[in-house]
Amino acid sequence: PSITRGVTVEIPKVSWEDIGGLYELKKKLQQAVEWPLKHSSAFSRLGVSPIRGILLHGPPGCSKTTLAKAAGHAAQASFFSLSGAELFSMYVGEGEALLRNTFRRARLAAPSIIFFDEADVVAARRGGSSSGSTTVGERLLSTLLTEMDGLEQAKVLYVPPPDLEARYEILRVHTRGMKVDPDVDLGQIAADTELFTGAELEGLCKEAGIVALREDISATLVCSRHFQTVRNSLKPALTREDIN
Ligand code: ATP
Repeated sequence: PSITRGVTVEIPKVSWEDIGGLYELKKKLQQAVEWPLKHSSAFSRLGVSPIRGILLHGPPGCSKTTLAKAAGHAAQASFFSLSGAELFSMYVGEGEALLRNTFRRARLAAPSIIFFDEADVVAARRGGSSSGSTTVGERLLSTLLTEMDGLEQAKVLYVPPPDLEARYEILRVHTRGMKVDPDVDLGQIAADTELFTGAELEGLCKEAGIVALREDISATLVCSRHFQTVRNSLKPALTREDIN
């Protein structure tokens, strides 16, 4: 990916199959992102205007970024990445300029997806100015709304932490490329990892491989006990309250 001060651009390589679980959500994203590009004539025939903005929200590490990238890959779209926190920390006017510039570049490179991470940082700074002057957040937000022609049509999608079945699928994704002993029961590991996020499950798989190598540098397989050792050393960051 090329990096121009605060923005990264790439055509993502990640595909829908790299994301475990979330079938309904993937379907909705496909419809929202791929359809308008693949079936643009059907949209114009019916006079339906496609959704321009999607807000993904949910706990960290549960694949919001990965979903956006998979949508970009499927649509063969240029993928621009921006961070709300980064824009917010820039000098006066710089953040807005970068935002406008990114939209301009994205239009030139269309079809494009602008992935705006930590958008809440910008949206949360609405108001709160006692002096009557506009705050950084207000200016960024108004620039964003101008560039997007408003957000009335935006689709809000919740990305939940993985349930049992999704955890199993995620473990499958992240052991795909590993040499795993037949004694490894991914269903059992999925059952033992309640509240684990996708990121934590990915970490578990990688770490199990490291444990196997640490035990024996000429090991040929990652075994159940390696997964067990790592599982027992981990505690999920999410709590039950985060989910309910
Ligand atoms: P954050 O809010 O912290 O930015 P996020 O929701 O955007 O997190 P990602 O960055 O997409 O999460 O995911 C972090 C890592 O966890 C990725 O490298 C991804 O491989 C893995 N991961 C998360 N969810 C899944 C999933 N459902 N299937 C496969 N891998 C997953």
